Amino acid sequence: MLIINNSLNMLVVDENEDSRNSIKNFFQNDYKVFEALNIEEAFKIISKNSLSVVLADLKFISQLKENVKIASIPLIAMINFDDFDGSAIAIESGAFELITKPFNKTVVEYRVHKVMVHYENSRNMMLMKREKITEMHRYIEIDSLTGLINRETFYKRAAALMQTNVDVKYYIIYLDISCFKAINDLFHIETGNIILRAAANYFSTTINPKMGLCSRMEADHFVLCVPQDNLEIEKLIIGLDSTMQSLGIGHNILFYAGIYPVNNPALPVDQMCDRANMALRKIKGNYMNRYSYYDAGMRELMLQDQMIVRDMETALQDEQFAIFLQPIYNIKNDSIVSAEALVRWFHPVNGMISPGKFIPVFERNGFIVKVDRFVWESVCKFIKKQRAETGEVIPVSVNVSRLNFYNLDLLEFLLGLLEKYDLEPWMLKLEITESAYMDNSHQLMSIIRVFREEGFPVLMDDFGSGYSSLNMLKNLPVDVLKVDMAFVRELEESERAYMILKFIMNLARDLGMDVIVEGVETKKQLDYLANLGADKIQGYYFSKPLPVVDFKKLLAETKARNEMNL
Ligand code: C2E
Ligand code: CA
Ligand code: CA
Repeated sequence: MLIINNSLNMLVVDENEDSRNSIKNFFQNDYKVFEALNIEEAFKIISKNSLSVVLADLKFISQLKENVKIASIPLIAMINFDDFDGSAIAIESGAFELITKPFNKTVVEYRVHKVMVHYENSRNMMLMKREKITEMHRYIEIDSLTGLINRETFYKRAAALMQTNVDVKYYIIYLDISCFKAINDLFHIETGNIILRAAANYFSTTINPKMGLCSRMEADHFVLCVPQDNLEIEKLIIGLDSTMQSLGIGHNILFYAGIYPVNNPALPVDQMCDRANMALRKIKGNYMNRYSYYDAGMRELMLQDQMIVRDMETALQDEQFAIFLQPIYNIKNDSIVSAEALVRWFHPVNGMISPGKFIPVFERNGFIVKVDRFVWESVCKFIKKQRAETGEVIPVSVNVSRLNFYNLDLLEFLLGLLEKYDLEPWMLKLEITESAYMDNSHQLMSIIRVFREEGFPVLMDDFGSGYSSLNMLKNLPVDVLKVDMAFVRELEESERAYMILKFIMNLARDLGMDVIVEGVETKKQLDYLANLGADKIQGYYFSKPLPVVDFKKLLAETKARNEMNL
């Protein structure tokens, strides 16, 4: 006989001693056999023992079946061979199998065995199902690429961790790789995956799973929850750096971290993560700082951002946006050769808001496209009016945020403006920031080429702020380089900035490009630049961005002065 389990218990319930004895004789080698003469005794045995099978006289079957503990135990009915209705009654009462008295050993053993195998199989199936469900649960909670827990699970577990260990102070740390998108583009996507897995592995081996948690939120964003006492953030970053270096990818893979020290564990964890992420955003693109802590000022910033998003549509409708114009001088003859249009927001409650505050928000939520179009149209109106009043055209540059290039009707829109205001493309210069070029999307380059073919001058804004290699310049569709202010600021202190600027000026000349230097504030800077042969200058030294009426006045005065000097 099959031994399914080494502690098998059988219960026989029958008033008839002979019946009980026969069963006992058949099975005592394989089972521990309990005997009950009546239902009360049966229930007692059932409640005290873990049974594998119950054999009972037909008259006990329905009562036994009512006992909850019997639910998962096979119940076999014993019926008299001459009881013709017995089989049907037994089945209706819930018996799983029947054996007939007087017993035939072979038949009884065979039936009991069959029942046991069947039950064992279905028990195994149940276990397998349960395991599968656990596995599926795991799958739902785990990020399949890295094996770390995912965002939702992190929220749940971090909350539980912090609420269990109320005496421990925690950090929530949000980490992100700089230029991960570029790495993915530059190399193969699998390289990106290797980086993510290596980082995940580093986090899970560095962080004691009993004390902290690590998770991949999305893309290249990781988040940790760790006790403050256990963490040396510099060490963590250094370790991460060397892990990344050991991959030998040949590209600097740098992680940046925003840290939120948790002082209120009851705050929802997603908000803690937002705060850590806010701290991270403060240093993004600033390659000196690798981490930063959240402070309350950041919350102010967040609230301010929320106000901006809330009010932006109304602002556009109510004409709260306006352009200011900042003159661009040719220092060779002290004349104003063009201007840059810069948007301003006059908020009815908060006064003038600087573009540094709202442009990044609009670039994130896409509203910049509407604002830019508003600015371009305002500029066209200005040029047209100015031409009508003075008979002269002053070309103006406008900023074209990268998001505009996702709109298929961009060129159509610009050409439409020229037609509407009866202008020519050279009058509207397009400033596109260096970082947009650095994305190096072929599509973007070809669109820019089309603009140039149409006759729009194209300026590379903030040149030198990113990482454009000078060698790349000759292949890019650019007419004018606008040198970033940072260079000018460094000019007086750093020999190197001077050398680079000199090099840029020469290179631009060789490539037939014009150069405008931005952010000139002092006479000294101006002299340096004049020395380097720079002639087009934009900066506070000459003028801040001005309301249109003031700009017109300045333009008229400058012209009059120059004419007097002639
Ligand atoms: P940007 O395009 O690089 O514009 C030059 C910024 O430098 C302007 O800041 C200008 O006021 C400032 N600036 C000019 N000369 C000096 C100087 O000598 N010293 C200093 N410290 N600053 C100087 P603003 O107007 O605050 O604009 C900031 C940025 O906001 C702009 O940088 C541009 O990226 C963005 N922006 C402004 N208007 C628009 C717009 O209409 N559309 C888009 N897409 N972006 C805009
Ligand atoms: Ca600009
Ligand atoms: Ca600029």
